[in-house]
Amino acid sequence: PIRTRVAPSPTGDPHVGTAYIALFNLCFARQHGGQFILRIEDTDQQRSTPESEQQILSSLKWLGLNWDEGPDIGGPHAPYRQSERSDIYKAHTQQLIDNGHAFHCFCSNERLDALRAEQTAAKASIGYDGHCLSLSKANVAERLAAGESSVVRLNVPRPAADAPASERLCTFTDMLRGDIEIAWEQVDMQVLMKADGLPTYHLANVVDDHLMEITHVLRGEEWISSAPKHQLLYRYFGWDMPTLCHMPLLRNPDKSKLSKRKNPTSITYYERMGYLPQTVVNYLGRMGWSMPDEREQFSLAEMIVHFDVTRVSLGGPIFDVEKLAWLNGQWIKALPVTDFVAAFQQWITPEYLARVASQIQTRVQTLSEAVDWAGFFFAGSVGLTAEKLQQKKLTPEQVKQLLQLSLWELEVLPQWDHEHINALMQRLSEALGWKMRDVMAPFFVTIAGTPSAPPIMEAMAIIGPDMTRARLREAIA
Ligand code: ATP
Ligand code: GLU
Repeated sequence: PIRTRVAPSPTGDPHVGTAYIALFNLCFARQHGGQFILRIEDTDQQRSTPESEQQILSSLKWLGLNWDEGPDIGGPHAPYRQSERSDIYKAHTQQLIDNGHAFHCFCSNERLDALRAEQTAAKASIGYDGHCLSLSKANVAERLAAGESSVVRLNVPRPAADAPASERLCTFTDMLRGDIEIAWEQVDMQVLMKADGLPTYHLANVVDDHLMEITHVLRGEEWISSAPKHQLLYRYFGWDMPTLCHMPLLRNPDKSKLSKRKNPTSITYYERMGYLPQTVVNYLGRMGWSMPDEREQFSLAEMIVHFDVTRVSLGGPIFDVEKLAWLNGQWIKALPVTDFVAAFQQWITPEYLARVASQIQTRVQTLSEAVDWAGFFFAGSVGLTAEKLQQKKLTPEQVKQLLQLSLWELEVLPQWDHEHINALMQRLSEALGWKMRDVMAPFFVTIAGTPSAPPIMEAMAIIGPDMTRARLREAIA
């Protein structure tokens, strides 16, 4: 049976790129009556967080991209979270070492830095020079016994320059691109296991794809250059490699790689903005792909029926928020009014309403006044103008500088709550040497659209990181 997977790393906001890759994997599997698996690739302990994993799962669920096996529901190949599979990777690494397909490397960072500097100066191919390949077994055993720190590297063939092409080149097939050739000399002796005993992406990914019986890997084209390392690992283990299909990356309207600097990339942003999940799925389905009859509006179920991966076109698909908004309007118009009401009710959850109510209750005399006070908690944009943003104490340039600084800082805020936002504002006020109330004034206008709003840091905590950033971006633009 056909088995596909999406394998996100929980290192940040749930990316629309993750949903895009998940969608195509899901369609391919479902169309062939196969299974679609969710695997969490959290081998980077520093950057992975449980919150990010939770958000990825709930965002994919919101979109209706449901999996057959995964960390939350288990399955025959559990666990589906790589941090819980360390022993499996250790055993496989040992097998590679025993067969001479991988080796311990004791090189210090100083040596590796010097090597890199040398190679950069000589414009030589960048990569490890195989220094520790020549260590004797006895020497390695001795150093390991003495507790010396080491990593394990992949033993990549280094054929002579005059070797036949079949030896010099790694060849693999991509479903969309046909045969791809990459010279082995360009393939680095990749670290497979770090000094802390945890695997890198390459080892864990190959081992898991094999053990989880994945037959087709649809992933972003940024991984093409990794395919030789993976092919080598499959060969060393004596396993068949899954069929590879590298999808074109999503792009900003200026054709650069989709990035949060230029476009909101978090699925949660689109949810908070009030896009319908079926629209987002529909739009992602049109990234590099089209229905055989070219119709623009289609559901996930329709996409599965008509899906044909060979219809993916390689030109970089442009993720254009304005087109998405237009398509959302089409979907909303087409809803029976009862479904529209239901969509509205799902969007304004009772929990959110309660948090908003807590901010305005003491400020209103009648319920009808509540609408004015509460509006900005729900709005997509507060219709900011340069005039409204004008301050008594700060010049327009100072205001922009302040908002830009806060935007950068807010992007790396460890936790999104009043306490952390407040601490950040205090820091900004001290760093800039401006009074706290002068620092805060522009935020009232930016976030609420008016200087007379409920406490604005609490409001930022409630409207959340996506909407706060969107308004700051609007004010800076
Ligand atoms: P940014 O530049 O916005 O920070 P990034 O590349 O650093 O993006 P990651 O957090 O590394 O984002 O990516 C999260 C997931 O989204 C990965 O699985 C990655 O493959 C996917 N992804 C990121 N950018 C794109 C894109 N332009 N098109 C398709 N998928 C993408
Ligand atoms: N963890 C990788 C990512 O975040 C998965 C890449 C792959 O699909 O092989 O993109």
